[in-house]
Amino acid sequence: MSHRTAGDGNQRHPAPFGQATDIGRSRTHNEDSLLAKPPLYVVADGMGGHAAGEVASRVGVDTLVAHAPLHADSKALARAIRAANNAIIDAVQAGTGKQGMGTTMVAAIVEGTRIALAHVGDSRAYLLHDGALRQLTADHSLVARMVSEGQITEAQAREHPHRSVILRALGTDPDIKVDHTTLDAQTGDRLLLCSDGLSGMLEDPEIARILGGYKDPQVVADMLVAEANEAGGLDNITVVVVDMGVTAYDEGRASSGRWRMILAVTVFLAVAIAILALAYWRLR
Ligand code: MN
Repeated sequence: MSHRTAGDGNQRHPAPFGQATDIGRSRTHNEDSLLAKPPLYVVADGMGGHAAGEVASRVGVDTLVAHAPLHADSKALARAIRAANNAIIDAVQAGTGKQGMGTTMVAAIVEGTRIALAHVGDSRAYLLHDGALRQLTADHSLVARMVSEGQITEAQAREHPHRSVILRALGTDPDIKVDHTTLDAQTGDRLLLCSDGLSGMLEDPEIARILGGYKDPQVVADMLVAEANEAGGLDNITVVVVDMGVTAYDEGRASSGRWRMILAVTVFLAVAIAILALAYWRLR
């Protein structure tokens, strides 16, 4: 069962995002967590076994929400991820969860077409622009390092026995390094945040085809999960899809409509007063 909550209660202006998380076909727990609460969007992939991964990713997301900036400030977003890191380390000390539990995190703040991005681990951000898919994040994983050093190819990385070994995760190092960047997308572009349960099952051309294949971002999110399951579903699958340049409830259009109404009423009253004044002057 995939979990969906997007678009709740606003039929005329559908939310500009979709979200889905699914246990997949071979795991006993879903250790991923997500959040889509404009302007903040997050995917976290927990690890640690025996439910600890769920605690790590949930504590991480909850702490991020409490510390995240309101604007597309990637430095402040990275600071919020470091706060999430500290909260997970503290949770282990406090006996919530387990020693060794951790989580990846990819987070975005979207302001119109501006994207502030920060991440740790191998959960990814992609941008679809004019049908072309671009990976915005570099995995902090063993295989990504081996690819960058020319030891193996992308295709070999996908099949590598150590493909799930990550070099950086929240919950272990108090001095965690968080990668962050800000970029300008264009209206009509689509941002995807995902866990490796998606990117490990589907290759980029398939992800691009599905991302560009449906108008409704919620349909896209559900289709990405369905196809990752179709391809094997070897891990938990989590996706957040965000349309660029669309505000949550179309506030821009609503407020310009309000101003047009005020202008129309003012002009009507001015004309009415002028006619009455003219009539009064003629009758005198
Ligand atoms: Mn995973």
